[in-house]
Amino acid sequence: MAALPEPSSILSFEDARHLVEEHAAQLRPHGKELVDLLEGAGQILAEPMLADRNFPPFPRAMRDGYAVRAADLAGVPATLEVIGEIKAGARAEDVPTLQPGQAAAIMTGAPAPSGSDAVVMVEHTARDGERVQVMKLVAAGDNIAAIASEAKRGERLLSPGVRLDYAAIAVAASVGRSRLLVYRKPKVAILSTGDEIVDIDVPPAATQIRNSNTYSLAAQVQAAGGDPVLLPIAPDEPARLRELIADALESDLVLLAGGVSMGKYDLVESVLAEFEAEFFFTGVFIQPGKPAVFGRVPCGRGRLARESASSAAHVYFFGLPGNPVSTMVTFELFARPILEALAGMTPRKLAFLKARLKSEIRTKTGLTRFLPAILSGEFENTEVELARWHGSGDIASMARANCYVVIPPDREKIQAGEWVPILLR
Ligand code: AMP
Ligand code: MG
Repeated sequence: MAALPEPSSILSFEDARHLVEEHAAQLRPHGKELVDLLEGAGQILAEPMLADRNFPPFPRAMRDGYAVRAADLAGVPATLEVIGEIKAGARAEDVPTLQPGQAAAIMTGAPAPSGSDAVVMVEHTARDGERVQVMKLVAAGDNIAAIASEAKRGERLLSPGVRLDYAAIAVAASVGRSRLLVYRKPKVAILSTGDEIVDIDVPPAATQIRNSNTYSLAAQVQAAGGDPVLLPIAPDEPARLRELIADALESDLVLLAGGVSMGKYDLVESVLAEFEAEFFFTGVFIQPGKPAVFGRVPCGRGRLARESASSAAHVYFFGLPGNPVSTMVTFELFARPILEALAGMTPRKLAFLKARLKSEIRTKTGLTRFLPAILSGEFENTEVELARWHGSGDIASMARANCYVVIPPDREKIQAGEWVPILLR
């Protein structure tokens, strides 16, 4: 049997995360596909998105009011002659030209007339028939978006590698793209292990547990831009585990859940070693999720022993601890950056926000903790409080939480009122 990694490969949270990020930076997505605009929402853009015209294409009024020449308003109140009204969508040939002393009523989104250089908000005017009195000074440029002030025709608005969130979808729509190129979703094999685990459509015996990890991981994979491949549950028995790992290695990334602790039947690492696995870490000083494993297997070791469809030389894997909360947390902390890189996303750093702690936390030193927590309050009074949880098996408490409080390994007591780092979920 192949050698297992040294026990010394238990890393600090920061080192483990950096290592994963370094590997992620080397990974490339596998191909592109053309999809309808809305199908692309949440996927990763695979082409630059260019401005097909100037933005805005005409000097655009940003307020309802009067288009004016700022120079006519040396002193206020000033009275101007109203020569017409310009609606949004008014044709260029219908827009009048302003002479000194003149103004035109104008609506938000309408083209500002030539000769005008500012819009006075209607709130600062008083209309009297053909005349308007302006009560407030404006400077040249006020309330008009100049031609191309947002983007010039041909300018790059989005780069490949961005996730198509609602703002990016708006950009694509604004340049008239009803179809766009996205990266192909990587296939992510999900393999839960454990003799006590039964599938969700099987009535569990008294000492059996329903498989939740396969489904939480599949949902996480989908949210991150991957295509989950759900494998059958692997028993704690090497022959069947070996077969299922061989199947899993046909995917672009492998997520194993359970069987990575120190128990006699925790076989995942030793079976992976038979596939010439290289282990980068076999534990991280975190809670929950300390036994998390990260490594890779050379391509061509899968069941079909075929070379990868992509140019990848390795299939990366994570052995995530089976306790459901540990599985979820370790996916987010470590597996997600690798998956995002395979999905074509430009790497990003993990960002911790800060929130005020509602009640004191006491803990032990030595581990970076990611404790399920609940943000409450609103606006500038947002507070955070640990979810009442009964350890890393407590799925219901995890489901009520909406963030994690992050506790550095050197802290034992954190007082109420302290600003603590949090990771949003
Ligand atoms: P393990 O990491 O295999 O030692 O499992 C740790 C704990 O997580 C045990 O209590 C398991 O019963 C539980 N567990 C493991 N896999 C799953 C799963 N797929 N769904 C729900 N619970 C699981
Ligand atoms: Mg197990």
